[in-house]
Amino acid sequence: MTCNIDETHDPALVAWVASANGHSDFPVQNLPYAIFRRGDDRARIGVAIGEQILDLAAVADLGLVDADLIAVLQSATLNDLLALTPAARRRLRHRLSFLLSDRGYEAALLPHLVAGADCTLGLPATIGDYTDFYVGIHHALNVGSLFRPDAPLLPNYRHIPIGYHGRASSIRPSGQPVRRPNGQLKLAGQEEPTFGPSRRLDFELELGIWIAGENELGRPIPIGEAPKHIGGFCLLNDWSARDIQAWEYQPLGPFLSKNFHSTISPWIITPEALAPFRQAQPARSEGEPRPLAYLWDESDQHQGGLALDMEVLICTERMRANSISPKRLCRTKTSHMYWTAAQIVTHHASNGCNLNPGDLLGTGTISGPTRDAFGSLLEISSGGAEPVTLPTGETRTFVEDGDEIILRARAEREGFASIGFGECRAVVQPAVT
Ligand code: MN
Repeated sequence: MTCNIDETHDPALVAWVASANGHSDFPVQNLPYAIFRRGDDRARIGVAIGEQILDLAAVADLGLVDADLIAVLQSATLNDLLALTPAARRRLRHRLSFLLSDRGYEAALLPHLVAGADCTLGLPATIGDYTDFYVGIHHALNVGSLFRPDAPLLPNYRHIPIGYHGRASSIRPSGQPVRRPNGQLKLAGQEEPTFGPSRRLDFELELGIWIAGENELGRPIPIGEAPKHIGGFCLLNDWSARDIQAWEYQPLGPFLSKNFHSTISPWIITPEALAPFRQAQPARSEGEPRPLAYLWDESDQHQGGLALDMEVLICTERMRANSISPKRLCRTKTSHMYWTAAQIVTHHASNGCNLNPGDLLGTGTISGPTRDAFGSLLEISSGGAEPVTLPTGETRTFVEDGDEIILRARAEREGFASIGFGECRAVVQPAVT
């Protein structure tokens, strides 16, 4: 990775926006971007600072950024920002860090700070394409043993980052409800399939990777260049209907069990913000194949991993009615990714497939090795056999109507300010009848 630690990461840096200092997600060391809307106002680019959002279109109008960034910040999507070079993106970060920490700009910028609670956050970018991978090796092992007990991990897994093309049109930002899908189900004990609401609706805890820059069609992205094609990260809940999936997935893979809705967190956390939280990719053990040369880069192996803690919580309708706090279903780490973000990007473009700014890649479900670290209910409930008991006495094997699923992620490291991703949440609504 080419991102360096600099003065914008200084844990002693203080913002003049009081709520930012010590904020669990958005201190001045984070500076993530989103598209926000206040009331009927147009969609605008903002940067999170504590509980507030700074309107970057206004910052551009005031002429407080370099001339080449003005139009980028006046856009209604982050696609142009994602098309910036890493150097230009770093320049913007430095400028915003300075403007938000130098009291000399407080009077000019105060009128352009809005309370996050008063805003609706939209999709960060117009998403041209969405691809979902399968790099959580514990998830692959767990699901593999449920679907194919004789061969849980297929022979290709340790050689190739497995993925499939998802659907961009049904990706929605956090907060928008999810409609339970109808589909073809082959129920246990029945000879013929039926059509109806999924009975095994599930979440998948994933990291989203925002593509920056573009590669010309026919021109692969060398692994050493892959970091330049990553513009940021978000949380991704890849909602999955396990019963539809089990019936439809052979031989071409996931289809309607996955493309009815995917929820993402609205903030793009930049690679620069995550620079202090890079780590080595876990070494492969004796006997595991070394990745092919096009996927191997010493620097990527040395610092291409991410040190993020992720968690999933559930809050049922009854829990909300009784003011019971959401219950954690799992807690895991991005170090359980078998392939790095750079390897995912390079593999995707290795045949010449062109990736564009605003494309979204999902890592696949990131499970840990134990039940309390499994990133889907399919795994937590062992395919529906072992229900989870909630504080109300309710039990769950899969997601029920009225349940809200909440994803969170945080980065912590001694000597640095912790940063968070914000939330990715959605309530499940009954199927269309
Ligand atoms: Mn997935």
